[in-house]
Amino acid sequence: MSQGVAIIMSGPSGAGKSTVCHILLEQDDKLSFSVSCTTRQPREGEKNCVDYHFLSREEFESRIAAGDLLEYAEVHGNYYGTLKSAVLDQVKQGKSVLIDIDVQGQRLIRKACESDAELASASVFVFFAPPSYQELESRLRGRGTENEESLNKRLNNAKAELEAWTEYDYMVVNHQPQQAALELKAIIDAEKVKVSRTDLVKGWPYV
Ligand code: 5GP
Repeated sequence: MSQGVAIIMSGPSGAGKSTVCHILLEQDDKLSFSVSCTTRQPREGEKNCVDYHFLSREEFESRIAAGDLLEYAEVHGNYYGTLKSAVLDQVKQGKSVLIDIDVQGQRLIRKACESDAELASASVFVFFAPPSYQELESRLRGRGTENEESLNKRLNNAKAELEAWTEYDYMVVNHQPQQAALELKAIIDAEKVKVSRTDLVKGWPYV
């Protein structure tokens, strides 16, 4: 069995990571999504344990204390964290997992890779960018999910997040979600057949 790939995706809020993840998840049942924990309130239509594990601050802090999180960070005033079980179990089973995290979380996973060879060999870092800052602002406003305060926080944070793109292995500019999904799929497919991740076929080398 080949090793799975952990696709660590970051980019400012409104870059379209979730939409692109949903497109790929519908197409490929071998792909899973790492459901993060968060202390932010659910948005309309979001489901607990599907979009996020929505926790109180106390519950989140007890997850930290129990060592359940691969990384966590405070983003736009709330805690967000990746469950170890959502990533490491999948990768060990040869499945690929999409991980939507902010730039700080990405840095923490890179740090964790220094002492975890299995995580390091599974990880691929992809940056998601909007076509322009103006487009990001109009998408965030058009989405209508944030109040003015949260919107301004997200737009301010976006500036610093956009500067982090050089830390990643790949960059997807999301002009259009279906096209961005195709690009992300191409990245995952290529990463899966890297010599370092592929098991030898029976009898290899044949001669
Ligand atoms: P949103 O509130 O829009 O769902 O997410 C806000 C930000 O939190 C996004 O940039 C998203 O990538 C990030 N985020 C989501 N889950 C996690 C996580 O588990 N860890 C970290 N560090 N960031 C996360």
